[in-house]
Amino acid sequence: MKISGVILLTMMIIVSVAGCSFTGNDRDILFQVQTIGSLQEGVFEGNVTVGELKKYGDFGGWGTFEGLDGEMIILDGVVYQIKGDGKVYLPSNTERTPFASITYFDADKKVPINREVNSAQLQELLDSQLPTKNVFFAIRIDGKFDYIKARAPDKQAKPYPTLAKALEKQNVFEFKDIEGTILALRSPSYIGSVNVPGYHIHFISKDRKSGGHLLDCLIKNVDASYDETAGFMMILSETGAFSQTDLSTDKQSELKKIE
Ligand SMILES: [Zn+2]
Repeated sequence: MKISGVILLTMMIIVSVAGCSFTGNDRDILFQVQTIGSLQEGVFEGNVTVGELKKYGDFGGWGTFEGLDGEMIILDGVVYQIKGDGKVYLPSNTERTPFASITYFDADKKVPINREVNSAQLQELLDSQLPTKNVFFAIRIDGKFDYIKARAPDKQAKPYPTLAKALEKQNVFEFKDIEGTILALRSPSYIGSVNVPGYHIHFISKDRKSGGHLLDCLIKNVDASYDETAGFMMILSETGAFSQTDLSTDKQSELKKIE
């Protein structure tokens, strides 16, 4: 398989769950570029282009761009880039990502959030309502939020540092009474260093002028919608930094601190 001149290894893992409507060829597939473990090791070289990524869904991001240049959000088919300056950019189709996930969002069910919750409480509340913890869930929350705290990293220069090192300096943005969308990916705990176990949450404002990787929030009187996603497809690079980096070290405790 050749994407924009880079030979890629395509790995397809189909997780079939009894009682799940997943057919192996529908919209409930999470498509992922490389791994959180490789990003942690400083593999910031972009692999898949934005144009290619968009062929696999309309919702997600939960990743970054070449050089760790900001946070990625994909909403209603549009790819947004929140850079270290806190501003939202529209990357061209030729921009590349070293780590991102995308799927099609079709709401299966709503979870009302009637009491005020912060980010940790939101995750607990969602966990109590999801039918299983063993497949992926894409979660969308539209509304007006009391408080949002988000971050975006600065673009890194080569030789690239590790992700933990790069995130020692991060730009944090706080918003009050802001309208927008919270996008969460819940991955099973067994996903290990492939993706972020548990929740990875991003935010973008309704005016599309601010956002980032969600660090905390206070939200109430909104509905969360979830899309159970039992298919998984991953693209890895056979060349470049990804192929040459030692990815055998377990860095999950470090991941808990930085994500
Ligand atoms: Zn993020």
